[in-house]
Amino acid sequence: MAPPERPTARPDATAEQPPVPCSDCRAALASPSRETVSFLLLDQFTLPVAGCEDHLEQFRAVCGLTTSGRARLLAHLPAGGITCPSCRLSSHGTRRAMIPVDGGAAVLLGCPEHQSTIASRFQAGRETQNRLCADFETFRS
Ligand SMILES: [Zn+2]
Ligand SMILES: [Zn+2]
Repeated sequence: MAPPERPTARPDATAEQPPVPCSDCRAALASPSRETVSFLLLDQFTLPVAGCEDHLEQFRAVCGLTTSGRARLLAHLPAGGITCPSCRLSSHGTRRAMIPVDGGAAVLLGCPEHQSTIASRFQAGRETQNRLCADFETFRS
């Protein structure tokens, strides 16, 4: 019986992420605390996010392209708190998703399910943004 084939390990590709260029973001990511964690309100979701003010604002703006509803950033826990119990617990956890945002980063705290929900909204927003830019270029030429 042949041993099961192991996937080829590529240590150099995955071992380390390049450092975030923005030092304010780096500081916020290194120690998410009450001062550095904000709350992204996107439609019915409330997710704790960490990063510097500028890059979180960019992150919010891109996510906002995917909704006609609300896309807000709060510096403090919103009234009513975080509705998802797993997000509430995992704010203190170790699993985080880092989303690169032009020269900086936003780190999604919250539960894995909602991290990926918001991450895909950001991707969708990025596509919308690129399309708008392309349209604008066509319009100008
Ligand atoms: Zn930053
Ligand atoms: Zn959640």
